[in-house]
Amino acid sequence: MTRSKVSEASPWRDGLLRLTHCHKCNALYDVREVCPVCGNDVDLSSQRAMANGVEHELPVATQGAMPWSTYVLIDRIRREWERPPTGEPRGLGRSSERFVIVILVWTLFETLIERFYEAAFADLPGELGAELLQRFASVGSRLDRLYERRWGRTSGRI
Ligand SMILES: [Zn+2]
Repeated sequence: MTRSKVSEASPWRDGLLRLTHCHKCNALYDVREVCPVCGNDVDLSSQRAMANGVEHELPVATQGAMPWSTYVLIDRIRREWERPPTGEPRGLGRSSERFVIVILVWTLFETLIERFYEAAFADLPGELGAELLQRFASVGSRLDRLYERRWGRTSGRI
């Protein structure tokens, strides 16, 4: 596959950003471009491999900016969003059919906040980053007190 044959990005299929990790310097960048930090240029052409006497064409794969679990959550949100309603009657004590979307989006949000702090604290000495995340275990405390203590402002005033 050449760079010109890379299909158009889809927020559902490719995540919110079409970024990949550079395997040389760990920067995040658009894999269709050259890494802006170290100049790494990924060969996007497919490879050929033999298995049991049969030649197979293997498309290139790169490590995305987000882990697989994030893509799975986004895919589940898409499926629930696109699923036609069942038409079951709604009433007292029954939740909305779309309530699962709220739960999935909140789970995704918490996962992304966790990843944000893990990356932000990766360079702290020893176990300091892990200890801070244990001390500020809830999303609310991380977005409020931990963010302010680390960066001198609340996350709402970025
Ligand atoms: Zn790089």
